[in-house]
Amino acid sequence: MVFSILLMIVSGSRDYQTNKMIKNLVDEQPGLHIPPSLPGTHVYLSTQMYKWVNDTNLSVTVIHDVPLGYGISGVTHYIKHGTYVILLRWPTSTPQSDYTLLHEWGHVLQMHSGDLIEGRNSDWTWKGGDVDFSIPWALRPWEIQADSLADYHQLRLMPWRQYDPLR
Ligand SMILES: [Zn+2]
Repeated sequence: MVFSILLMIVSGSRDYQTNKMIKNLVDEQPGLHIPPSLPGTHVYLSTQMYKWVNDTNLSVTVIHDVPLGYGISGVTHYIKHGTYVILLRWPTSTPQSDYTLLHEWGHVLQMHSGDLIEGRNSDWTWKGGDVDFSIPWALRPWEIQADSLADYHQLRLMPWRQYDPLR
């Protein structure tokens, strides 16, 4: 049940039921909402990122060990302004999962600043223009920027770590 619903999230359109399911997983109260099972490194990174954003109205829910679609290691959803959910494929902390988490936090920053907005029907806009998903992933400006943000925060928070999937 959960598996098929989460697959629908990443495969495109989100219907009413799917939106409702995401809403049930998300805590809209301001704060960082993480399950007790979240790996310690992910707790550390998320806590530091929440502090870095420094907005007491911000609500971020992190859910891990989510069976996302093939090749997808993380997804961030816009629930409403100030309320976001990060879904991670990974059950444990690894260099890749840590980087993915920071990349998804990059999307949180983009959404919170209003640069990246997810509409009700999964119609996304980037800096006011319609998002064109026919652009290859590696050339999408919001993905390039999310990797830059992940690079920056990885260096800031884990200076011993040099993982970058694109290089
Ligand atoms: Zn991304």
